[in-house]
Amino acid sequence: MDRNTPVVQLKGVGEKTQKLFEKLEIWTVGELLAHYPKDYEVFEEPVKISRAIPGELCAVCAAVTGIPNEKKVRNLSILNVDLSDDTGSMQLTFYNMSFLKKVLKKGGFYVFRGVVQTRGARRLMEQPRYFTPEDYYKKTGYLIPRYSLTKGLTNQAVQKAVRQALDSCSFENECYEESFLARYELLPEKAALEAVHFPADDAAFQAARRRLAFDEFFSFLFLMKRNKAFSEKLPSHYQMMETADTVRFLEQLPFPLTGAQKKVWNEIREDLGSPYCMNRLIQGDVGSGKTILALLALLMTAANGYQGALMAPTEVLAAQHYETVSEYVKKYGLVFRPVLLVGSMKAAEKREAYARIASGEANLVIGTHALIQDKVEYHSLALVVTDEQHRFGVRQREKLAGKGIQPHICVMSATPIPRTLAIILYGDLHISVVDELPADRLPIKNCVVNTSYRPSAYRFIAAEASKGRQIYVICPQVEEGELEELENVVDYTEKLRSSLPPELRIAYLHGKMRAADKNRIMEEFAAHAIDVLVSTTVIEVGINVPNATVMMVENAERFGLAQLHQLRGRVGRGNHQSYCIFVSTQEKKETMERLQILNKSNDGFFIASQDLKLRGPGELMGVRQSGAFSFRTGDIYTDAGLLGQALEAVEELLKEDPGLEKPKHALLRKRLSDSASNSVDFRTI
Ligand code: ADP
Ligand code: MG
Repeated sequence: MDRNTPVVQLKGVGEKTQKLFEKLEIWTVGELLAHYPKDYEVFEEPVKISRAIPGELCAVCAAVTGIPNEKKVRNLSILNVDLSDDTGSMQLTFYNMSFLKKVLKKGGFYVFRGVVQTRGARRLMEQPRYFTPEDYYKKTGYLIPRYSLTKGLTNQAVQKAVRQALDSCSFENECYEESFLARYELLPEKAALEAVHFPADDAAFQAARRRLAFDEFFSFLFLMKRNKAFSEKLPSHYQMMETADTVRFLEQLPFPLTGAQKKVWNEIREDLGSPYCMNRLIQGDVGSGKTILALLALLMTAANGYQGALMAPTEVLAAQHYETVSEYVKKYGLVFRPVLLVGSMKAAEKREAYARIASGEANLVIGTHALIQDKVEYHSLALVVTDEQHRFGVRQREKLAGKGIQPHICVMSATPIPRTLAIILYGDLHISVVDELPADRLPIKNCVVNTSYRPSAYRFIAAEASKGRQIYVICPQVEEGELEELENVVDYTEKLRSSLPPELRIAYLHGKMRAADKNRIMEEFAAHAIDVLVSTTVIEVGINVPNATVMMVENAERFGLAQLHQLRGRVGRGNHQSYCIFVSTQEKKETMERLQILNKSNDGFFIASQDLKLRGPGELMGVRQSGAFSFRTGDIYTDAGLLGQALEAVEELLKEDPGLEKPKHALLRKRLSDSASNSVDFRTI
């Protein structure tokens, strides 16, 4: 058995489980091993009831003191169980788990694990997990992996499959030399995979993570450094002239550019007119007005008779850019002949788009990464702008170069990246910063609250809606088979309908919906046919509905600060006072303190720096969701040192054996070319 063996050949993985794994994009043993845990569970020693801290996840070992008492409320069975030990008592509540009446015996000792709540002086737990003490003690002292799942697939099943894969997969030899591993203090790959799935302790996990993150950085940097477009100043094939179009457009815009926008527009203009190919990163906080800059650059391109492309990470955002441009064309008579190209379009629509692009009839192509796929042939592509793309992939650029073109590149991002890191990650690029918000903006008013504030929040939402404003409510992602306690978009929408005035138009949006439906809902919201939009973070990036003034984020503690800041950036985009309500279901001190940072500041750069301070190095994968640079394991900020080491290693290797032709590099060559073809540079949300 090796990495390419299909998972169905593992014992215990039948056709049914295989189908479930496929939903997680796992077909082979190698892919299964690369399905790293999203976090780990630690079964801590049980505590006495009196030491169980309200608001925290605890395990108590205690005796059931009475016969479980069941009540029926409509379809719901509510089972109450009393517990006590020598320090106090506690009540447990289970929903729709009638069978526990027979399992939990009066006088029996069990371990219950759940979040401790209080009602008056009483301690409670709802829906705790229960164990016999023997079972529980078997689990304590380990880090137990928790995987992303899909409905029907249990964590246990994934664990078993991974265990078997680790035991029976014959790994080819290590791709790095021994001296290399020693020099960079890296675990051998097999040991790293073992320890990332089943770490003995935190130190073992950190060591595993280090190796996996190094691999990721190493292959990324190797591919980038080998590609001249990233490391050398290239002559421009499309040296442009300034035309009256951009000047006229600026005169017609209902607002003047901010000083920062003017400065950056000058830089872009110079790049496009210079004898060298543009390679520029534009950083600017949410709402600083980056879109106009992209449109100006694209307008100059079109006016010079070339094609430009605007690439967005989601279809929703691409569709919105397309709408904006179409409107501008109508209003201001711009020379754009735009075309939209996204994955969810019908085959016939796509064919038509391809034809318009190939003939040059379309001079502005707006879309997702669909617009750089093989089928798309450009007539005269001179500029590619990527919006909210934190990493314009090596492969993307190779693809463009492979088509015989070397367009100007402009990457726009709201994520603050320090200069030293940006140079490593983007190669030889220039950086522009839009460090000023339009003057008409009122600072967003924030509050961080607990769930008891919900009724007031709903009243506030109703009041804003009655003034003609619109509202976002964010719930964590819909992921089946886990996180039952989290507010789920669909259920939440129902609940909200019953709490808000009936005339309000409420709709929901989540990542599992068909792209066409997502686009339709987003268009309706933009057109104010919807008042309240309940959504997962699909709307996180880039969406612009200036009439929206309230952003309410449920389970705010689940999000990274940078991500919350992005979410908040969806409001405060017009001249109305805007509000952001962060609802935390956890009242832990650290959680509240972390969220208070958002309360104090609306400045994305400040928040990112605070976020960094709070996050220790090597946090678990999947915990942080800031969306910056889609490395799976490595974190460009906290692993900046490792990134530097990977860069050093790559540079040495390129000096010694640039083509990886030496026999000792054969395996490495294979691994790097595999990772080049597998790497997903674009994450669609
Ligand atoms: P971001 O930088 O987050 O991508 P956008 O480009 O979407 O921000 O701009 C946010 C909003 O601000 C848009 O409605 C845009 O029309 C508006 N805007 C951009 N520049 C200015 C300006 N100089 N003055 C006033 N409003 C502006
Ligand atoms: Mg934007």
